[in-house]
Amino acid sequence: MINSRNILGIIGGSGLYNIEGLNNIKEVAADTPFGAPSDNLIFGEIDGKQLVFIPRHGRGHKILPSEINYAANIYALKAAGVSKVISVSAVGSLKKEIIPGDMVIVDQFFDFTKNRKNTFFGDGIVAHVSMAEPVCPCLRNIVIDSCKSLGIRYHSEGTYICIEGPQFSSKAESLFFKNSGFDVIGMTNATEAKFAREAGLCYTTIAMATDYDCWHEEEENVNADIIIKILNENAEKAKNIIKEAIKHIAYGDDVGNDSINNNINDSINDDINVNIHNVYSCSCSSSLEHAVVTAKKDVPEQILEKLAIFEIYK
Ligand SMILES: [Zn+2]
Repeated sequence: MINSRNILGIIGGSGLYNIEGLNNIKEVAADTPFGAPSDNLIFGEIDGKQLVFIPRHGRGHKILPSEINYAANIYALKAAGVSKVISVSAVGSLKKEIIPGDMVIVDQFFDFTKNRKNTFFGDGIVAHVSMAEPVCPCLRNIVIDSCKSLGIRYHSEGTYICIEGPQFSSKAESLFFKNSGFDVIGMTNATEAKFAREAGLCYTTIAMATDYDCWHEEEENVNADIIIKILNENAEKAKNIIKEAIKHIAYGDDVGNDSINNNINDSINDDINVNIHNVYSCSCSSSLEHAVVTAKKDVPEQILEKLAIFEIYK
């Protein structure tokens, strides 16, 4: 089971700590050269297709955004044979039209974190991967189309600003982010996207709006009960999106990142974002080509071993 390749990985955020209805569930304690991931990996199947799930904050929600070992989480998924990752995250909305309960399939991240490790590299090896387009266009399109076919309210683009946390923003910060044109705010996904890109994984985010952050004066008195209700409803929507999306994701040893089911593009020509939807190839898996600056002979042996899974000098 663990030797499967090219399978789907799911990273669950606040409200999404497991996926019910998986078949052939197997839980595996993973360890990596970067330490232990947030929790055990949960392998399971939907309609005969395998996926691997990991709760970002651990079951029981015990790990702060700044404490998450993103490197270990992404490494563990890669080692398990994952090539594509759908990340699920609760976010605050910075736009009136993104109402609590909406899904935002973000296309950009703005990394405003200050105090966390954000790369597999260092200690004798330097790499600069491109983050110009931080989200996989193929996987994103599949998620968008899944929202559409399920009739779930969604926004097909948006910029996610990632703050350090764990505190929520002050009003001054929230208004600054809103006025800067960002769409949603969270504390984890920009970092995760960087590790996923370095690992050559396709990565896309389902950002689930739970509230209006604190900029929205009229929404100030929303209580915790309402937010938890929305969080739970959103988690159900995200699970349904994943169950729909997995039907359209190519599997097996012979398929690459560019072979995601093209049929999905045929049915959506009526969409205004036709240019986005027509994208059915991506270069996520070759992110390290031309990215590593250091010559192999100059890299310490133990670092080469630590990063061997990425096949940097193939
Ligand atoms: Zn991709």
